This record gives sequence, C-alpha cells and structure tokens, in this order.
Amino acid sequence: MTEGPTCYFDNNATTRVAPEVVEAMLPFLRDFWGNPSSPYRFGSRVAQHVETAREKVAALVGAGPKEIVFTSCGTESNNAVLQSALLTQPGKRHLLTTAVEHSAIINHCQLLRKQGCEVTFLPVDADGVLDLHLLDQSIRPDTALVSVMWANNETGVIFPIEEIAAICRSKGVLFHTDATQAPGKLKMDAAALGVDFLTLSAHKLHAAKGIGLLYARQGVKFQPYLIGGHQERGKRGGTENVAGIVGFGRAAELALEHLEDENTRVRALRDRLEETILRDVPDTARNGAAEPRLPNTSNIAFDLVEAEGILLKLDELGICVSSGSACTTGSLTPSHVLTAMGLKPARAKGCVRFSLGIYNTEEEVDYLLTHIPAVIARLREVTPDASARTRDAGTARAGRRAAVGGQGRHR
Ligand code: PLP
Repeated sequence: MTEGPTCYFDNNATTRVAPEVVEAMLPFLRDFWGNPSSPYRFGSRVAQHVETAREKVAALVGAGPKEIVFTSCGTESNNAVLQSALLTQPGKRHLLTTAVEHSAIINHCQLLRKQGCEVTFLPVDADGVLDLHLLDQSIRPDTALVSVMWANNETGVIFPIEEIAAICRSKGVLFHTDATQAPGKLKMDAAALGVDFLTLSAHKLHAAKGIGLLYARQGVKFQPYLIGGHQERGKRGGTENVAGIVGFGRAAELALEHLEDENTRVRALRDRLEETILRDVPDTARNGAAEPRLPNTSNIAFDLVEAEGILLKLDELGICVSSGSACTTGSLTPSHVLTAMGLKPARAKGCVRFSLGIYNTEEEVDYLLTHIPAVIARLREVTPDASARTRDAGTARAGRRAAVGGQGRHR
C-alpha cells in the first residue's frame, strides 16, 4: 500500500466503530465483566445496562424492548427466522424469498431445500426491482414465510416493504425483512411497517462485529435457534455479549442522529461520485434503479475490465471498494444479484460497489475521482482479450439499452 490516505468506500461490508461506541463498550470489557444472569449486584447491574441498550435499539427499530432479541450477527438472525417459521408451522414447507437476498438467506434456503422444503426465489427486473403481483401470486397455502430484504447490499435498491407486509398480512403469511443495510439510512418503524420479523447487524452501523438483533413482533410464535439457557426471555440461549450489546445501543442512538447527514451530505457525495464516473469514464453504467435507493450506495459496471484488477489498483492508492457483498468477494462466480438482474457474466465481473458513510469527506471523493479514470484506462490497455470483449460488451450494452430504455452515452 502507498503512503496515500485510506479512503474507505466499503461501508456496506462493515463500518468503522464510532469512537463514542468504543467509549461505551470499554467499561464492560475492563470493569463490569459480570454475567448479567448472576443474582448478585455485580451481575444484575450489568443486566440493567443490557436492558438500557435494548430500549435504545428498540427506539431505532420502532419496536418495544420486549420485541428485541440480541443475536451474534445478521446471519444468525436470518437463520433463526427461517428455522422458527418452519418449526412453529409444521404443516407448512414452502418458503418465498428473492433471488437477490444476502447469502445468509439464499444459502440457508438452499440447504432447507435439500432437506425437503420447497423454496421460490422471486426474480427481479434489469433495475433490480421486484414484481409485487408475482410475489402475491406466489404465496401458497403452505407458505411458512416470505422473506424480502429491505435494501439490497450490492445495489442499494430499496424494496417496498410496507406493501409486501400488507400483502402477507392479507394472506395470513409470516413476513420477515432483512433490514441489515437500512439503519442510519432509512427511517425504521417496524410496528408501522407491519412486519413480523426484522434483522439487523451492529457492525453495519458503526458498532462492533459479533452482535446483531432480531425483532420478533409481540405475539408472533417464535422458536429459539440457539437452545440453551433462558437468556433473552427464553428466545436465544447463550451468555450475552454485554460490551457488544452496550455498544450497539450507543450506535443506535448515533444512527438516529446521523439519519439526516446520510440523506443529505452523504447522498450528495455519492451522487457526485457516481455522476462523475459515469461522465468521465467511458463504457460505464450504473447497476440498479436510481431510486428508491440507499443514499450511500452506487454499483457501477466498468466494461472491458475485471473488478478484481480495479480493486487491487485502488487498494494500492489506499482506496477500499468492493466487487460485491463481502461474503462473495474472492469467489470466481459473478455476483448472484447482478446475474439475477440479467447482466452477462463478462459485464457482471467488471462491477464495483462504492458504499459511503458518515466519515467520508469531499476530499476523499475528490481523491477517488482524480485517480479512477487513469486506473480504468491503464487496466483496459493491458486487458489481453480487449477487442473480443469490446464486441461482447457492445452486444450486452445494446440488450441492456433495450431493456432499460437507455441511460445516455456513458450510462
Ligand atoms: N444481510 C445483509 C443484507 C447483509 O448485507 C449482511 C452483511 O453483509 C448480512 C445479512 C450478514 O450480516 P452479518 O455479517 O452480521 O452476519
């Protein structure tokens, strides 16, 4: 890595732990290390702080504290909902989800399919948008759960969760949303949305890794996934990650405070980054609908070049971006999200996700924009099969223009 600054544009993968969160956590690592389930005050005082944090995250989610179950991560929360929906409704063996969910849903559904469940993965269109009529039609009498993410981690495309919740309610089917990418960017009100279950992960909102939550609507049937002690009111066994939970509570307060900054300043930074790349770098296109979209996310296709090369060159300049979800980066197969949107493999392999956050500055965006045209031009010069790929990309672009009505010269 060069001496340049580290410009972090991968906030959908994970976020810097806020200094305020570190401060909140430290006493629970250093001094107040008692077990919250212990009967003496050294334990019960710690339990009080866990409950205070529960109130704070409940306020972020728009829920009551009793509806919050702390877990170890977003993946555990997602897994827990799928398992619970099947266990509490033994006669129902069908799951309905989308082709663009995070691997924490997709891969678990694939396993459940091998174990005898039926799973429908709803398609999306070229903009990454769901057909709600098809969703409605795909709900069956034996559907145990509908699970649709609130916002896609790769493209930022936002799904109409309130409408989907209404469809599910009208059909008496449980509805879960993986809201991992929403907090701090979208206003959340689980009760008003009408969802039965909702998943969050603390490390996406400037808290520590290894802590997540599951919102389970009061009165909804829930079967614990981790079976052990009676922690979390019997909904999740295992001694609580107290420092993580306290930090999560502080991060939830900060996320509410930063909502406006994400939707004004960060959105403007993202828009400038995206518009300038699409204007100044030939053969580029945005992936996914422009709106409704998370204010921090931009996914851009760079034709005639592989994302892996872009990532390496930008890394040398101290710039962190990604080529998809952190969980699929490094695999040779192109992103399942972009493939589901109809991108040809050659184009899908040249896509980069820029995800900004509250710590990004104008200067960092300037730094990226100064370097990226030359990085792409240099990589294209050394791409051995550039001419063959030029033809492929031309065909793919023509198809895409027909599908989405064209996005201008540079798209
Ligand atoms: N769901 C979505 C939409 C995500 O983006 C992620 C993380 O990238 C997860 C779930 C998994 O969260 P965790 O890393 O806490 O398991």
